[in-house]
Amino acid sequence: MPEFLYIHIPFCIKKCIYCDFLSFPYDESLARKYIDALCMELILKKDSAKALKTIYIGGGTPSVLPEENLIQLFRCLRDNFKFFPIEITVEANPGTISESNIITLLYLGVNRISIGVQSFNDDELKTLGRIHTSEEAAKSISIIKEAGIRNFSIDLIYGIPGQTLETWEETLSKAISLSPTHISSYELTPEKGTPLYGMIKSKNIQMPDEGLVIDMYNYAIDYLVSNGYEHYEISNFALPGFRCIHNLNYWDWGEYIGAGAGAHSFIRGYRSRNTDDISRYIEDLNKNIIPEIESVEIKCEDAIKEFIFLGLRKTEGISIMKTEELGLNIPDACKELIDEGYVKVSDNYLSLTRKGLVISNTIIVRLFEKLRL
Ligand code: SF4
Repeated sequence: MPEFLYIHIPFCIKKCIYCDFLSFPYDESLARKYIDALCMELILKKDSAKALKTIYIGGGTPSVLPEENLIQLFRCLRDNFKFFPIEITVEANPGTISESNIITLLYLGVNRISIGVQSFNDDELKTLGRIHTSEEAAKSISIIKEAGIRNFSIDLIYGIPGQTLETWEETLSKAISLSPTHISSYELTPEKGTPLYGMIKSKNIQMPDEGLVIDMYNYAIDYLVSNGYEHYEISNFALPGFRCIHNLNYWDWGEYIGAGAGAHSFIRGYRSRNTDDISRYIEDLNKNIIPEIESVEIKCEDAIKEFIFLGLRKTEGISIMKTEELGLNIPDACKELIDEGYVKVSDNYLSLTRKGLVISNTIIVRLFEKLRL
């Protein structure tokens, strides 16, 4: 049974131009109904979980919720789940952090905050459609630190239109000067259906060239590692002892429960998904129905593919012994990729090299072909 719980809060102040996460404009009355429905879903799912190791409240922008909604949610969690979490993360947008809501989160037991800073350059923040400035981001981090929360992560984005290697270096330097325990650094990807995608198609905005984006990725790895951060996943870096336990479970192909509109679960080999229609989500739960719209069994070949695809995201890679148990001959299949310098085997683990990490999807597809998956 899963020991990891994800909760989705689908509200934001304003949609960022690149965002394809499920989120709606914050509305007080809708949020109240949503939290009532969410609590009902948690009650209906309480017997599917073991004692929880981690809770991750993501979004959207969970920090947009009024304190009474957060208190109601945590009361519901404590009343219905065995509750010994070693990590409770809440995602926060710098534009919605105040002393008061951080103190409330601390009081509720939250011990990790993930802050979506994205950039410390105001022009880049404007381009992305973020609601905060660089100074406001730094101020919200001071609030978090002053409240006594040591374990916080900063999310950053590279490959922003107009961004240069110099502004990226400045963003990284400013980020580590604030002493986060964790940094996530994601490449900006224009997803279909987002305003950014439309702007690129209509040539209103231009993405930086691929070579520059690769340089930014390589610079981030070198810079963060030389400043004591372990590069433990394609896009994630942590000080020793501060890797995100909740996210590691995804990459380790572990089970988890998801609650909230659009949330996914992975239990006993089935991946399932809730409706992303917020009205239907609330209506179903008002009738004590879990608003699941899809449940797919992940069978043999797909299970192996998921295990490899997720596991190779980690820089430690995947255990060769485990792949042998799955009937795979990794050393044979990887010979060419090893010779070309894209993957390596060390201490009985297969992992991507730096050259392989830069084009991880292509390399993984080639590996699947070699394994005839
Ligand atoms: S704050 Fe995050 S979830 Fe909300 S619109 Fe922006 S990127 Fe999307």
